Amino acid sequence: MSMILRLPILTFHALDDLPSVTSFSPELFRFGLSMLHEHGYRTMSLLEAVECLRMKKPFPEKSFVMTFDDGYETVYQVAFPILQNYGMCATIFLTVGKKGNQKMGERLPSLEGHSMLNWHEIREMKQVGMEFGAHTLTHPDLTRLPRDQMEEEVSESKKIIENILGVPVFCFAYPYGRYNEHVREFVQQHFTCASSDRLGFVTPHSTLYTLERVDAYYLRSDRLFRLMLTRWFSWYIWACSIPRWIRCKVKNNFELRRSHFG
Ligand SMILES: [Zn+2]
Repeated sequence: MSMILRLPILTFHALDDLPSVTSFSPELFRFGLSMLHEHGYRTMSLLEAVECLRMKKPFPEKSFVMTFDDGYETVYQVAFPILQNYGMCATIFLTVGKKGNQKMGERLPSLEGHSMLNWHEIREMKQVGMEFGAHTLTHPDLTRLPRDQMEEEVSESKKIIENILGVPVFCFAYPYGRYNEHVREFVQQHFTCASSDRLGFVTPHSTLYTLERVDAYYLRSDRLFRLMLTRWFSWYIWACSIPRWIRCKVKNNFELRRSHFG
């Protein structure tokens, strides 16, 4: 089997036609996955991808990782049957809410006005091999919280999922992709890997606690989704990442200069 050095980790949120940044068209999702399936593409689980990174092994050709952030109900209603149909797996990052709010029939606290998964649905998906990761209790920007609250958001969300599902939780996703040194260090003590909002492919140079992803926003038409089948896809994502990278550099330089001058 041929191997590749660049692996896309796709990020979806909700699958519906609402005019929201977290929404992705169910029809396009169905089209995209059937196209990938027809062309022999297969999912790796996030942990399998991480294992390749740790062993410094390349990835199998035509592989990709699917992730869903927040835990919207449409992941169960729309994505789950399609994934099962094609024998694909996904990692679903859950924002679980504060303690004492975890009865099986109860839904996760609503984000962005969407309806969320309940624990029956989560458990059913777990039983057929979907992976679950932690995405905090209340979806805050962790870089803006006092240390004790940041730590509670990270470690309690992991414990709640582990208690309810009875399996260890290895993966974390930073809300809004935001982290700083303290957040990353704390996450590192509790998890095997973490996904950031850095746009790009995972490569042998990726670090386990700031894994790059490709948001579904970059696949928002038939034409863009089709690019995944071509070698242009990595060029396209690279090109999209440049403005962000420059913005980051400029911002960092500015902050550096500001701290130099007090
Ligand atoms: Zn999120």
